[in-house]
Amino acid sequence: MKEDLKGVSGHSDTEGFKALLRENNLKVTQPRLRVLEIISEKDTAISQPELEKMLGKETDRVTLYRILASFEEKGILHKVFDLHGTATYATCSQDCTAHKHEDQHIHFICSNCNSVTCLDETAIPNIKVPANFTLQSVAINAVGLCDKCHL
Ligand SMILES: [Zn+2]
Ligand SMILES: [Zn+2]
Ligand SMILES: [Zn+2]
Repeated sequence: MKEDLKGVSGHSDTEGFKALLRENNLKVTQPRLRVLEIISEKDTAISQPELEKMLGKETDRVTLYRILASFEEKGILHKVFDLHGTATYATCSQDCTAHKHEDQHIHFICSNCNSVTCLDETAIPNIKVPANFTLQSVAINAVGLCDKCHL
């Protein structure tokens, strides 16, 4: 099961999404609400081209790019690169804030359909870095077949 978007329960919970945007000082706009709606309904991460297709002509590429960048900055979504190096976006954990992402988990990437799934339960091990090195982020991918490609 996918965790709810920052405690927002139920699908298409427009009021919850509006509150989330206001909390983050983001103006409530239709494209922003649509992006939250689409992502919260999916169990896997979604790429910008996929989102573009689902949003249709109503939202141009630049607007979508800005929406994703602002959501990432605010700790609403996190970016994961799939096997082709395409950026995909997934819902953040409740602990993420505008200043720090807390979703330090492993991502499962399907080698057949290229879907990206957050393994929220699998924490990234503590990485020891040499003196005077600063660790900024760690990305670990588990690659295999997802449930849809299993058979
Ligand atoms: Zn995050
Ligand atoms: Zn698959
Ligand atoms: Zn994730």
